[in-house]
Amino acid sequence: MDMHAAITTDAIAMQDRWCAHNYKPLPVVIARAEGAWMWDDQGRRYLDMMSAYSAVNLGHGHPRVLRTLIEQASRVCVVSRAFHTDRLGPFLARLCALTGLDGAVPMNTGAEAVETAIKAARRWGHKVKGIPANHAQILVAEGNFHGRTTTIVGFSSEPAYRDGFGPFAPGFRTVPYGDAAAMEAAICPNTAAILVEPIQGEAGIVVPPEGYLRLLREMCDRHNVLLILDEIQSGLGRTGKWFAHQHEGIRPDGLCLGKALGGGVMPVSAFVARRDVIDMFVPGNHGSTFGGNPLAAAVGLTALEVLEEEGLVERSAELGLHMMDRLAALAHPAIRAVRGRGLWVGVEIDPGFARARAVCEALMAHGVLSKETHETVIRFAPPLVIDRADLDWAIDRFAETLDAMRA
Ligand SMILES: *Cc1c(COP(=O)(O)O)cnc(C)c1O
Repeated sequence: MDMHAAITTDAIAMQDRWCAHNYKPLPVVIARAEGAWMWDDQGRRYLDMMSAYSAVNLGHGHPRVLRTLIEQASRVCVVSRAFHTDRLGPFLARLCALTGLDGAVPMNTGAEAVETAIKAARRWGHKVKGIPANHAQILVAEGNFHGRTTTIVGFSSEPAYRDGFGPFAPGFRTVPYGDAAAMEAAICPNTAAILVEPIQGEAGIVVPPEGYLRLLREMCDRHNVLLILDEIQSGLGRTGKWFAHQHEGIRPDGLCLGKALGGGVMPVSAFVARRDVIDMFVPGNHGSTFGGNPLAAAVGLTALEVLEEEGLVERSAELGLHMMDRLAALAHPAIRAVRGRGLWVGVEIDPGFARARAVCEALMAHGVLSKETHETVIRFAPPLVIDRADLDWAIDRFAETLDAMRA
């Protein structure tokens, strides 16, 4: 074993020894990244087809984001919400203008934005809709992923997310995803909200039938129920629109955002909603020490500006079509389905050919980093700044990898 390989082995062994084993990372040690490319500790280059689950939509180390980060960090970073800052207002004003919503609660991680949405929906149900105290119900979809808090995993349909972590909070009911009739049938007088992802990411990039969100919108209006969308992964350009719900021309009552909102450098999330929902929060009833800190707000605003000014949303739409066409054209016997929207595509691998994990490991050896979701789906979700030629290169490597595995 050469010296460099020994360093890699050490890094993996050390992480393995001291870090909880709540993930199963690929055996690569990332030491540096720029744009859509990452380098390991031995200087080998990989194309990032994963974008940290969409946290890195702007690419690694975007120069404008880094400039904001450094400038703001040297001015002021964290003051808590005990005081006003000159950064929070401009950030949230921009966010509300983009979403067409009226106000926002700044948080840090995605799960916190979802927790905030759940609190807002329940309180709205009790205080505005008139649901009896502690009886508000929220309808969620089978196959959902909304984060890892105990409340949220309590309504997950993935056994691994739940096993041993109960008892779980009541007040949620699960309905098959993509089935509008089943959702409407589940609505009862105590239903405060429907909470869904417009496209289910962790479930394997599952795109619901055309018109699903429009039907949810209509039934929410009919039954006085809030439509809350979790666009933590699908939002901010990933699907070729600013928000995935814009593909159906609807507007939600509440929207959870995160991941790319932090410009790829820090956790920034928000729950954005219409006025009567956001007004459920009053001094003292909700909060976060770090939420909305001036560093996060400055970075968040720059992230939104970069997405807009660099045309990354349009780029995602255009390159996404290209990626989808090319993946579909591979027509490889190992591929059972290709689905997605924008630069967000799931490739379903025939389990008789190989596990998706094995394909990701082989892809890594060909210089492309991605990650399986569940046992059978490989996700391709490069930073939106990726060059067309680099995208083509990744797809060529994917075809090559599948052929090498077949041989
Ligand atoms: C990642 C994700 C979350 C959770 O975000 P964290 O920042 O990991 O807490 C919630 N919802 C969706 C759809 C996600 O993809």
